[in-house]
Parts: sequence; C-alpha cells; structure tokens
Amino acid sequence: MPNETQHYDLVILGSGSTAFAAALRAQELGKTSVMTEERTVGGTCVNRGCLPSKNLIEAAKLLHDARHPRYPGITPATLGLDFKALIAQKDEVIHSYRKKKYESLVGGQSSIQEGHVEFVAPHTVEISGRRLTGDTVLIATGSRAIVPGIAGLQNVPYLTSDLLTNDEPIEMKTLPRSLLIVGGGYIALELGQMFARFGADVTLLERNSQLLANGYEPETGKSIGEVFEKEGIRVITGVHLRSVRQDGNEVVATVEMSGDGNTRELRAEKLLVATGRRPNTDRIGIEKAGVALDEQGAVRVDEHLRTNVSHIFAAGDVIGREQESQMATPVGSQDGGIVSHNAFSPEKARAVNHRIIPRAIFTDPQIAVVGMTEKEAQAAGHPCWCNTVPTTLIPRAGAIRDTQGMIKMVADAETNEVLGVTMVGNSAAEVIHEAAMALRFHATIHDFIDQLHVYPTMAEALKIAAISRYKDPATLSCCAE
Ligand SMILES: Cc1cc2nc3c(=O)[nH]c(=O)nc-3n(C[C@H](O)[C@H](O)[C@H](O)COP(=O)(O)OP(=O)(O)OC[C@H]3O[C@@H](n4cnc5c(N)ncnc54)[C@H](O)[C@@H]3O)c2cc1C
Repeated sequence: MPNETQHYDLVILGSGSTAFAAALRAQELGKTSVMTEERTVGGTCVNRGCLPSKNLIEAAKLLHDARHPRYPGITPATLGLDFKALIAQKDEVIHSYRKKKYESLVGGQSSIQEGHVEFVAPHTVEISGRRLTGDTVLIATGSRAIVPGIAGLQNVPYLTSDLLTNDEPIEMKTLPRSLLIVGGGYIALELGQMFARFGADVTLLERNSQLLANGYEPETGKSIGEVFEKEGIRVITGVHLRSVRQDGNEVVATVEMSGDGNTRELRAEKLLVATGRRPNTDRIGIEKAGVALDEQGAVRVDEHLRTNVSHIFAAGDVIGREQESQMATPVGSQDGGIVSHNAFSPEKARAVNHRIIPRAIFTDPQIAVVGMTEKEAQAAGHPCWCNTVPTTLIPRAGAIRDTQGMIKMVADAETNEVLGVTMVGNSAAEVIHEAAMALRFHATIHDFIDQLHVYPTMAEALKIAAISRYKDPATLSCCAE
C-alpha cells in the first residue's frame, strides 16, 4: 500500500516536450506541478527521436556528399567512419541538450518523479509507491512504435525507431552490414537513407504501391523513391511480409508480392520495424480515471484539450489525430502550454489551432508539407487548381547543381486561395514556413506572385509554382518575374 500522498496543482503523466511546456506555463502562472517518467527525462524527441536522428542524418550527408560531389572539378573522397565515436558524440549532444532544455528547467514549483505512473482515481496517480493528487491532471504519455502481428517476429530480435536512444541498453552502437526495414513512412525513410549512407545495404518493404502512401501527394513518394533507387537503396513496394525467422546471424523475411501469390526470401543482418506509432494509453489505468479514448486508442479531447472528465486534459502524441492534431514536437509543445493556460489562467480559454501544421521529413532532399493535398482539397469541396513544377526550374537549384525534387501547389480555382504546398527539394523544411505563414493568412496565388523573393533561393519555388497558374515557368527569365 502506498504510504505517502503529495498534492499539486497539476499532475502530469509523462515528461516529454508536451509535459515540459505545460509545467513551465503552470509555473509562470504561479502553480505547482509534477511530471512523471519511467524512461528518460525529456521524452522521445530529445532522447530517441528528433534530436539524435537529425544529428546522425547530417553526419551521413557529409559522408555521402564527399563520395558524390555535385561539382565537376571536385574529386570524390571516402571519409573515414568510426561508428562508435559517432554514436558517442550523438549521446554527448543529447546529454547536453537534455540538461540545458529539460533537466535544468526543473525546480522551484515544477518537479519530476521517476517510475511507472498509473491512475488509481480521477484525481490520483500512483508512482513508485507514492500517490500524487492533482486539482488538474494532464495525460502526456506520448506514443510508441506499433509492432505488427508478423508470424515469427516474437522469436527474432528486431529494432524499432527507439534504436537511436541513449542511456538505455537497446541503443544501437554498431553499424549493421545490412538492414531490412518494414514500412515506408517518414521514420523508415529518414533512417533508411541514413543507414545506407553510413554504408549498410538497405532494403525497404512497403505494402502499398508507393512510399509515403498515406496523407501525402502521390508525387512525393515517387520523387523520393527515385532518389533512393539512385542511391542504391532497394525499395520494394506492393509487398506483404508473411513471416520472419532467424538463420544464424541473419534475419530471413518471407515476402509475397501483391497479387501474384509467389513468395521469396530476403535476408539481412538486422530487421527494423517502422510501421507507425500508437498512443501510450494502454498501461496508465485510464479506466480508473474514466477518460474516453477514440477508435485508435488516442485520448479524446475537445478544442480546449479537455477530456470527457473536466479536470483531466491530454496533449501531444497521446491525442493522435484528435482535433486534426499531428504527432510532432512543436504541436505538443504548443498544446502543453495551452493546457496550463486553460486550466489556470483567468483569461479566456484558448482553443487549439491545428489548421496549419507544417511538417518535414529530413531525407535528402528534404520533404516538406503544409495544408491540404489535392485529394483532400477535392474532398472538402474545393474546385481545385493544382500544379507540380520540377525543381530543375528553380534558379538556385540549377546554380548549386541540386535539382532533385518538385513543388506542388494546391489552390481553390475560384478564389485562388492557396490550400496546400508539398515540396521535395534542398531546404524544403525551411521554405515550407513561408507557405505556412501564407496559408495562415489565407494568401492567394497572387500574394505568392507579388511577393518579392530573394534571388537565388529555394523559396522562389513557391513563387514559380504560383506563376505556373498563368504561364509556363520554363519560359521565365531570371528572378521569376
Ligand atoms: C525517430 C523519430 C524521429 C522524430 N523526428 C521528429 C522531428 O524531426 N520533428 C518532430 O517534430 N517530431 C519528430 N518526432 C516525433 C516527436 O518525437 C514526438 O512527436 C514528440 O516527442 C512527442 O512528445 P510528447 O511529449 O507528446 O511525448 P513523449 O516525448 O513521447 O513523452 C512521453 C513520455 O511519457 C513517458 N511515459 C509513458 N507512459 C508512462 C507511464 N505509464 N509512466 C511513466 N512515464 C510514462 C514516456 O517514457 C515518454 O518519455 C520523431 C519521433 C521519432 C520516434
């Protein structure tokens, strides 16, 4: 029986970026809070998600660019790779960032308790033999990798997107010779290209007929698929993974191509399962709090992030697609702050705004997306104008000899309001912010055309895509005017 109870204004399940944003905002409003954590303080983004992946992806790009200089006159070079040292520097970056941006912010009115946390009643959770009660409770337990029911998987050691973690035994410290990746979403693409550039022989297995099959323009998967093929990454689409087994030092996957019923075997040293993520709502005693979940197991919330139990809120990955949310760090961080505002501020309640969420995939070239795809715009009843322009027509891309990719703009054909942009290309993750701001203020195609752009920049892609509404961008002179 727990023998101690502590009371707080805000009890938070989790200690990721969503939890920290809520705790800090609560502190600004003069309230006490406690976060809880069963793994590493700071959660997924800093410890095993955004930060380690972006650190290593850039290192892999350095190796790749040296081997494949884009400029005649620069001799290809093979840089040395000490994978263990590379992992050690990644851990160093994580430790330093975690200290600066997470651990050092705890203190005063916000604290952390370590251990597995579960609800025992709507206002009470239990952790490591203690009970914590809160006037307000926030569920911010994030998400974890989905492990599909593949025959034999339980007997085979397999990796998940957790492989870049630190301070945990599952961290991957040696480079596999070969890697079989199940999945064709953003984590599969980022990690697949990264490991291939480090020198692993990578094969991607995607059950749909193309990469990035869900929620992206069809041109996106096609465009990045071509890049991957050129880099020697094997992409097998329309394939069903029937079973896996261990054979000596290798994993053997039996796959079946859609339609033909024939099976074949693929072998690799390691297997990475990257088939999506699910909200962490199954081990937190949620039924004892009476909180309702949606069909995907995400916590149901209203536009103020309140659950069906009025003092319990939820935010971050754990709400899945509720209120049109996305599983991404800035979304959780913004929403964590909104929760504390709505719980503690005397000011008017803030509703979440998930209408405009720019997203990026850090492949090379980068993929960035904001707003609606053509299909989504049509489904929403817009008469659609949309066009795709190849990156070869962007002056900067030509100037720096990096012409891989495309930009697609989707607009309402009657009002000319721009509804969505997808870009595959150098610096797409930076360029997409101009589009996001424009969509936020309901900009039209003419706003993009009239806006002067710095020459030569990749952001001119937006202006050129807009101009393609009226003329062939291949016939433009310099500066896209
Ligand atoms: C490989 C990878 C790359 C990514 N790259 C990016 C990127 O580049 N940009 C981006 O925006 N997003 C990226 N993401 C997504 C991003 O990491 C998440 O959206 C974000 O971390 C979610 O934050 P959160 O606070 O909601 O949850 P989390 O950060 O997951 O925090 C939840 C915490 O709660 C803890 N917890 C759960 N249950 C319990 C329990 N019962 N008891 C105690 N503790 C518990 C967990 O251990 C976890 O630490 C990436 C994710 C992965 C996996």
